[in-house]
Amino acid sequence: MAWIDRTNHKVGDLVCIQDDKAAQILCRCKCGRENLYPRTIFKSTYRGPTACKYCRAHPCEICSEPVFKTNSFTCSDACKKERNNRKEKQRYQMVKGTVDFKATRQEYLASLKLRLEADPEFRSFFLERHREALKKNRIKLSEDPEKLEQYRQKQRERERQRLVEIRADDGQWDEYKAKQREWYHSLSYEDYLRLFKDGKSPLDEVTLRLIGGVYNA
Ligand SMILES: [Zn+2]
Ligand SMILES: [Zn+2]
Repeated sequence: MAWIDRTNHKVGDLVCIQDDKAAQILCRCKCGRENLYPRTIFKSTYRGPTACKYCRAHPCEICSEPVFKTNSFTCSDACKKERNNRKEKQRYQMVKGTVDFKATRQEYLASLKLRLEADPEFRSFFLERHREALKKNRIKLSEDPEKLEQYRQKQRERERQRLVEIRADDGQWDEYKAKQREWYHSLSYEDYLRLFKDGKSPLDEVTLRLIGGVYNA
């Protein structure tokens, strides 16, 4: 078959700018990008793409960078993870108020509590994993002051809400107070100073005398 010089031939968004009689010929896309394309794109039977990969890309749902894979919503593994996290959060926001979800959650927490009490090995594994997660989260938050403040506010709000619920139940309230008292008396002198000094909640006379006695003993 006779060779056809494709220079200046157009197909889709591409125009051939240099034809060296090879299987691949140089084309320029309407966006200005130049690249090699198979000679076959100029055949009438060709059904493939006729624009550069940037013009065929769609923006990443997370960062707006171009995504070249048609079956992907995101540009990278990091963005994919972020997208999945957001989806999961959305899903959680939708179901968290439903009766079904609350019941399932309660059931899970109850069975978890039983297992934690019955299995010391699982308990230490569970706590260790929890500590690791908290540590990771703390490091992540410390890099973003704005997020850290948001997190602290949310935490304070959650704690307030929890206290309201505990106060409404006499049994729970007594248990809570006993636990707080136990914790308070378990603190060392250094703990007291660290937690209650520095303008947060100044040590009162009674406390000072109390821990002074413990400290001096
Ligand atoms: Zn292009
Ligand atoms: Zn992205």
